[in-house]
Amino acid sequence: MTKEELWQAVLAQIQLTISQANFATWFKDTNISSYKEGQILISVPNSFAKEWLENKYGKMISKIMYNLDKDIKDVKYATGRSELKTLKKVPISFPGAGQMEFEEFKVNKETSLNPRYTFENFVVGPFNELVHAAAWAVSKKPGLVYNPLFIYGGVGLGKTHLLQALGNSVMKNFPNKKVRYVPAEKFTASVVTSIRNHDMENLKTKCRSVDVLILDDVQFLAGKEKTQEEFFHTFNTLYEGNKQIVISSDRSPKSIPALTERLRSRFEGGMVGDISYPDFETRMAILKTKSQEKGVNYSEDILEYVSSNIQRNIRELEGALNRLVAYQKINNQVPTIEITKTLLKSLFVSPNKIVNPKNIIQIVADFYDLKEKEILSASRKKEVVVPRQIAMFLLRDILKSSYPFIGRRFGGKDHTTAIHACEKIGKELEKDEHLNNELDLIKQRIFSA
Ligand code: ADP
Ligand code: MG
Repeated sequence: MTKEELWQAVLAQIQLTISQANFATWFKDTNISSYKEGQILISVPNSFAKEWLENKYGKMISKIMYNLDKDIKDVKYATGRSELKTLKKVPISFPGAGQMEFEEFKVNKETSLNPRYTFENFVVGPFNELVHAAAWAVSKKPGLVYNPLFIYGGVGLGKTHLLQALGNSVMKNFPNKKVRYVPAEKFTASVVTSIRNHDMENLKTKCRSVDVLILDDVQFLAGKEKTQEEFFHTFNTLYEGNKQIVISSDRSPKSIPALTERLRSRFEGGMVGDISYPDFETRMAILKTKSQEKGVNYSEDILEYVSSNIQRNIRELEGALNRLVAYQKINNQVPTIEITKTLLKSLFVSPNKIVNPKNIIQIVADFYDLKEKEILSASRKKEVVVPRQIAMFLLRDILKSSYPFIGRRFGGKDHTTAIHACEKIGKELEKDEHLNNELDLIKQRIFSA
């Protein structure tokens, strides 16, 4: 038996004893990197998987191996990196696997812009063409047209994408201009920190030195008077200096409660535009664009099925596509329309299914074989810390919970812990394909439970 055959035989047995989700999560991209004198070295993709295999499945793996080959004395695990260079990888492959790799997008540290969001990959349709045109115009002449530009619309409809595309485009058109993308909550957090550290001047200087300030999800400023006041001053300084301000919100300036009147009228002084819901053709076009990005190609009836069933959220449209891609990767087979229907049923059947913090935490704990108590504890063990961060991230992602709430919900932790967790997982997701698949699987459980 070659070491490849041996590992396939081990995997085949393991697959029978654990859930499909766990199998896909922990055994993908593993292989035997060496087998010498009874010593087996198993290569795993990351240190998290290494700990997991050692602690949770180590005994089982050793036992199965020994049953297959009595010469085996010892099984060790190592993260792939060092060995993988010399090792011929035996991937769980499927056609076009090379294209599936997530491009490593790096968020620019200074501007906080993510190069993955561009005008080129932003699909325009009747539902967003006005704001798209406005954003495009602003990127050509920042500070000179539509100032401020205020874009609003529901969740997952492309506000962040458009704002980021605008910023990236300014950077390209005017390399000397200073662009800053700031989620409103982060703005609030820096105001709070600066006040605490008596460092307001520093923040003011920083804010006021930019040419294009992009503030995303401004509804989060509601009720935060000190932050609003600071923003108001920043706003005026920038505005008077002909600097561009771009703002997004999930609702119109009028419908943000507790927004001070002067700030509201400032917002309304520029151009206010909304993104509504994409029509069927645009949804198809978006699915095709995303398919191309992901290197997959599904039949028209599959895309039509998805487009007909998800109408009000582009992020969900993409989520459905990701599910199909995950299926394809795990099973090494393009989903048929029947399989598509089964895979996506849970997405459509219960659009209003009640998801609350409790069941999210429960499902994440289950997924990682932890007790709810452990995930809420203060344990610093990596196999607890990462799932905890993931649970925090999901509370934020799915329920839009506030950071202080998340902190409290996890055994009275500080809001900064929650911020750190969400940012960390968010960043990992940008580059870690495994984690992406894992989160898809977890979400699948959350929405279908
Ligand atoms: P919002 O900020 O409004 O909640 P996002 O900008 O985060 O929504 O969009 C959610 C997802 O949908 C992102 O992955 C984004 O790339 C994608 N998306 C939204 N609108 C479009 C579009 N018009 N064309 C292509 N992708 C889009
Ligand atoms: Mg957004």
